[in-house]
Amino acid sequence: MTGFDLVFQARRLVTAAGEAAGSVGVTGGRIAAVEPPDARLEGRRVVELGDDVVLLPGLVDSHVHVNEPGRTEWEGFATATRAAAAGGVTTIIDMPLNSIPPTTDVAALEVKRKSAEGQCVVDVGFWGGAVPGNLGELRALHDAGVFGVKCFLLHSGVDEFPPLHPADLDAYLATLRGFGGLLIVHAEDARAIDRAPSPHGRRYLDFLASRPRTAENLAIAQVIEAARATGGRAHILHLSSSDALPMLAGARREGVRITAETCPHYLALCAEEIPDGATQFKCCPPVREAANRELLWQGLADGTVDGVVSDHSPCPPELKRLEVGDFGLAWGGISSLEIGLPVVWTEARRRGFTLADVVRWMAEGPARLLGLERKGQIAVGYDADLCVFAPDERFVVDPAQLHHRHPITPYGGRPEEGVVRSTWLRGRELTGDEPRGRLLTRGEA
Ligand SMILES: [Zn+2]
Repeated sequence: MTGFDLVFQARRLVTAAGEAAGSVGVTGGRIAAVEPPDARLEGRRVVELGDDVVLLPGLVDSHVHVNEPGRTEWEGFATATRAAAAGGVTTIIDMPLNSIPPTTDVAALEVKRKSAEGQCVVDVGFWGGAVPGNLGELRALHDAGVFGVKCFLLHSGVDEFPPLHPADLDAYLATLRGFGGLLIVHAEDARAIDRAPSPHGRRYLDFLASRPRTAENLAIAQVIEAARATGGRAHILHLSSSDALPMLAGARREGVRITAETCPHYLALCAEEIPDGATQFKCCPPVREAANRELLWQGLADGTVDGVVSDHSPCPPELKRLEVGDFGLAWGGISSLEIGLPVVWTEARRRGFTLADVVRWMAEGPARLLGLERKGQIAVGYDADLCVFAPDERFVVDPAQLHHRHPITPYGGRPEEGVVRSTWLRGRELTGDEPRGRLLTRGEA
């Protein structure tokens, strides 16, 4: 076999079959061959990888808040996609809120696409929004290429993106079902949160008490019930309460079309270790106890949780109110887009998981959720989106070295294992700020 544009000779390579040695041939930006190492693929350029690195598919992060336009000072397409590239993430999907306008109709989607155009270092797709009164916009958003629509069941944090009432879930899911659409849900129940103590002060455990598991459990039960009743497809975002795992597993056994994701922070951090006043750890739903964390790992192991995505949600430092450390005043959101892979890998290997597991959670799973048929795997016909990862190399997270807009992250100072040596998009190494990322449309990528 001759004539590939590019060949990787990898001592270690993760495919759907697991980790093995192999050669990958790339032509026209796509993977054209995956062969055993003795196949001697020939290419115009050959990259020999040593046994200290593993060739992985580029990660797919389906949960990123870019915030541009409108709150570009929080984060933007250029900075977010640079952070993604540095972290081995080759596809991100942008959330419909925090930008202005929110992506709740086609005109707003076009505004977003225009502002992203020419800025993206990796591929970027978009979620739409489901808010009161926009039921009639969902079909048009779907046809315009969003990957699904997001709703909240309590105040979203920004007034221009109001929540649905749980009683509205049936109508939204039934409408989406009519054209094969997907509803993704921030599942915390407004009434349960209202009845909990209000968040205030510097103590993390007071903040935790303000976002109880019951609020999450109740909201997830309502989403499951609506998905069951309508036959619509729903996805639970950023699962934090492990109490909901048996409910999700049971619903799936019964054929309810429901999936769930969790995030690096729920798998790596725990409430017992969060210092008081450390509002860089604030997010909603919150990071819970260590015992809860271990059950989330079990949920990944048994397949109840489908994927791990960042929920990267930055804001300017002043909104984190670090100087007063008040969890009631601080904006909720964790920045981790660039370091999700080492954070998850460090914790995963400690628990006996492999890089193939991590790839299943951080690349294949999200790609399946999105219906991205050419992303998330090293296999013939897929885009040559790749990550060269040194799994044993150690580093300490320095927020100032990260590429997202503001140098804030709860992982600052943490020792981690695993360094991204290089990231490749459609067979080209991402070396700088060249905006070669494409804007993705559902069904076409
Ligand atoms: Zn989010």
